[in-house]
Amino acid sequence: MTDDSDLYDITIVGGGPVGLFAAFYAGLRDMKTKIIDSLPELGGQLVTLYPEKMVYDVPGFPQELGRDLASGFIEQGTRFHPTICLNENVIHLQRTPEGLPVLVTQKGEHCSRSVLLATGVGAFRPVKTGIPDVDDLEGHGVYYLVKSLAEFAGKRLVILGGGDSAVDWALNLYGKAKSIVLVHRREQFRAHEKSVEEMHRLKTDVRIPYEAKGAFADAAGHIREIEIVHKETGQVVFLECDALLVNFGFKADTKFLRDWGLEMAGGKVTVDAYMRTSLPAVYAAGDAATYDGSLNLIVTGVADATIAVNHAKTLVDPRAKLDPGHSSAREDLAQPAPGKSA
Ligand SMILES: Cc1cc2nc3c(=O)[nH]c(=O)nc-3n(C[C@H](O)[C@H](O)[C@H](O)COP(=O)(O)OP(=O)(O)OC[C@H]3O[C@@H](n4cnc5c(N)ncnc54)[C@H](O)[C@@H]3O)c2cc1C
Repeated sequence: MTDDSDLYDITIVGGGPVGLFAAFYAGLRDMKTKIIDSLPELGGQLVTLYPEKMVYDVPGFPQELGRDLASGFIEQGTRFHPTICLNENVIHLQRTPEGLPVLVTQKGEHCSRSVLLATGVGAFRPVKTGIPDVDDLEGHGVYYLVKSLAEFAGKRLVILGGGDSAVDWALNLYGKAKSIVLVHRREQFRAHEKSVEEMHRLKTDVRIPYEAKGAFADAAGHIREIEIVHKETGQVVFLECDALLVNFGFKADTKFLRDWGLEMAGGKVTVDAYMRTSLPAVYAAGDAATYDGSLNLIVTGVADATIAVNHAKTLVDPRAKLDPGHSSAREDLAQPAPGKSA
C-alpha cells in the first residue's frame, strides 16, 4: 500500500517557466504539489540559456530580461509552497501495485497520483570543447553560460563559436569586457546575418578559421592564455585571456523518456487536447509536448500547463470540475500590496 503522507497529487518534472506555472495552478486547485529539477536552480532555459536576453512576447510584459521573467515565474510558482527537489534527475517511471506513477531519480523515488512532464528540451548540458586543458578550467575562467554580464566586466574575453549565441554575446558584452576576441573554426558564421554585420561594424577582433587547441593557467589555477591554431596554415597564436566563453551549443537528453514507452514524435511527447500522454496519469506540457500546431513558446507552454493541471485535478478528485473558474473571483487569494499591511 502507498503511504498517503508521501503521496502527492501532482509531481511536476521540470522547474522551467512551464513547470513553475503548473505548480502555481496546481496550488490554486488545492493539489499537493512537488517539482523535481535536475539543475541546482529553478527557471529552466530562462536562467540557464538566456538570462541576459530581452523577451518581448510574454503577455502583460512588454519587455523583460530572461532572468527577471524567471524571478516572476519562481515567485508565482512557489506561492503555494510546493515541495521542491533540485539536483535530481528523473530517470525511470515505475508503478505501485495500485498503478500509481513512481518517478525514480538518482536520489530516490517519488510517488504521485499524477505526473506532469515539463522537461522542456530535456536535461540539457553544454557541448564542451573536448580539449582537457580547456574543459578542466571550468570554474576557473572557462564559462559555458552567461549568468550575468557583470562577471565579464573589465575582462579580456575570448569567445569560441560561430552561432547566434557566440555572436550575440560578442555584441552584448561589447563595451563591458575589456577586450573581445571571437574565434571560429569556419570562414562562415551560422549566426543571424544582421548580427554578424553589426559585429564587423563594431570592429570586433574575429579570428577565422581558427580552433582552440589549449589553455594555460596562472599560478592560482585561473585561465590566462589560449592557444589557437589556423585550420589551414597551422599558424599558432596565443591570446591573453581572463575569461573564455565556449558557445558550442547544448545537448539535450530526452532519451530517458523513450525508455518509458511513451508515444513520441520528433523527440517530444505526443499529447491529446487535455495534455494526456499515452501513459495513464502522465501529462506533458511546454517544450516537452507535441500536438498539431504546438509551438516552443512560453505563452503556449503555460497554456498547456493550465489545461494539464485542470485535467489532472479531475483525475485525482473525480468530483472536481475541469473548469477552474476565474482567479479574480477568489477572495482568499488576495495578498497585501508590497509595502502595505494586510
Ligand atoms: C536563446 C533562447 C531564446 C528564447 N527566447 C524566447 C522568447 O523570446 N519568447 C518565448 O516565448 N520563448 C523563448 N524561448 C523558448 C522558451 O525559453 C521555451 O519555450 C521555454 O523555456 C519552455 O519552458 P519549459 O518549462 O517547457 O522548458 P525549460 O525551460 O527547458 O525547462 C525544463 C526544465 O526541466 C528540467 N529537466 C529536464 N529533464 C529533466 C529530468 N529528466 N529530470 C529533472 N529535471 C529535468 C530542466 O533542467 C529544466 O530546468 C527561447 C529559447 C532560447 C534557447
